[in-house]
Amino acid sequence: MRKFMYTNVVILLIALLTAQLFAQSADSSIKKLVDGNKRYVENKPTHQNQTAKRREEVANGQKPFAVVITCSDSRVPPEILFDQGIGDLFVIRTAGNIVDDIGLGSIEYAVEHLKVPLVVVLGHERCGAVDATVKGGEAPGHIKALVSNIVRAVDKARTKKGDLLENSIKQNIDNVVEQISKSKPILEEFVHEKKIKVVGARYDLDDGAVKFFTNGGH
Ligand SMILES: [Zn+2]
Repeated sequence: MRKFMYTNVVILLIALLTAQLFAQSADSSIKKLVDGNKRYVENKPTHQNQTAKRREEVANGQKPFAVVITCSDSRVPPEILFDQGIGDLFVIRTAGNIVDDIGLGSIEYAVEHLKVPLVVVLGHERCGAVDATVKGGEAPGHIKALVSNIVRAVDKARTKKGDLLENSIKQNIDNVVEQISKSKPILEEFVHEKKIKVVGARYDLDDGAVKFFTNGGH
């Protein structure tokens, strides 16, 4: 009986320590992104990990420290605005930084196989995809699929005071963070076990600063 209890305590301690290690790792990933963005904003990028040596280092295996889901907008390249290099970020880009099953599968691969501890949903100021949804009207071709994904955020933003486009952009980021955090069967469990953190962030096109939404993050 005593041995059984002892084993249980050890298992519990290991589980707690593992969760703690992952949590620290997610926080240190956020710090790397914050520090890199600061260098970019101050126009002092180090362009680290962009050398031939780095290319050779990671040629046979990658260990990125963050997943970044961001907009396809040509003004929002994550490696540049976080001053990172080859093998640092696992990036998924779609207009409006939304995810479908293929996007979710890509995130699952990153967290399960590559052990990435942090998932960032990065929206941005004056996003064209969100703006098109705000303006409404008939969306041609497959653009319909984008708009129908973002419209829920716009509808909710209409109930709030302030700038409709800006509120819709923030709501869309929150919605995607929630969608990822509640995605079954893999991501929800990883969040629950504190193996990953999923956070939203907004990029300012004018000054280059990324603001992380740490409170209210999932
Ligand atoms: Zn955009």
